Amino acid sequence: MKVLVPVKRVVDYNVKVRVKPDNSGVDIANVKMSMNPFCEIAVEEAVRLREKGVATEVIAVSAGVAQCQETLRNAMAIGADRGILIETDVELQPLAVAKLLKAIVDKEQPRVVLLGKQAIDDDANQTGQMLAALLGWGQATFASKVEIAGDTATVTREVDGGSETVSIKLPAIITTDLRLNEPRYATLPNIMKAKKKQLDTVKPVDLGVDVAPRLTTLKVEEPPKRQGGVKVADVAALIDKLKNEAKVI
Ligand code: AMP
Repeated sequence: MKVLVPVKRVVDYNVKVRVKPDNSGVDIANVKMSMNPFCEIAVEEAVRLREKGVATEVIAVSAGVAQCQETLRNAMAIGADRGILIETDVELQPLAVAKLLKAIVDKEQPRVVLLGKQAIDDDANQTGQMLAALLGWGQATFASKVEIAGDTATVTREVDGGSETVSIKLPAIITTDLRLNEPRYATLPNIMKAKKKQLDTVKPVDLGVDVAPRLTTLKVEEPPKRQGGVKVADVAALIDKLKNEAKVI
């Protein structure tokens, strides 16, 4: 059973992003980029499935600029068997990514596609769901536990106030939540081994996919600066401020 793991290159989660002066987006020049944390969890889970003998091959795929190769090498250092780069300089939106992934799924025929539940840059939380719709496959999103036996996956999902366990027929889409696992560190020998693993490059046109953006970003703004707090003398003064200044009661 092949498992396909789409991995996205995003601004590292430790970086405090800055909005561009013209409000057109976020400045990513000279900023540290890394694999989206939810994708790392997906790679780890896929590798564990292979180690358990459930999966036979783990294929990492990334769509974006040439530097996404680093993200793929990182996935291969964690344990993915090979990588596919869908190379483009166009800024990709989730629908375009889902169409590209569908083309790869048609070619590679995985039984499971394991994605992150969301990318920490666009916070879209759409790609897995759109891919499920395009393929006509079932989906189990926000997984905190995955068990696969035969043609069925049993997935525990994080829902409001608890967890829900669902059973889903393969082939299926599964998206990972934070508590699914703790990804291993890539060791130096595995980083070296990853350099020799197969990495194929294709272009969106080779896959017959039009990746032109469908949404236009109107503006991106910093959150409003927090005002300093004040100490009030008594409850009456607090109620007065809430009523007349904050106007919340
Ligand atoms: P999003 O819908 O953008 O929040 O992303 C959810 C998940 O879709 C990510 O965690 C990845 O697994 C996958 N994904 C999104 N964009 C890409 C991309 N450019 N290349 C590969 N996988 C992607």
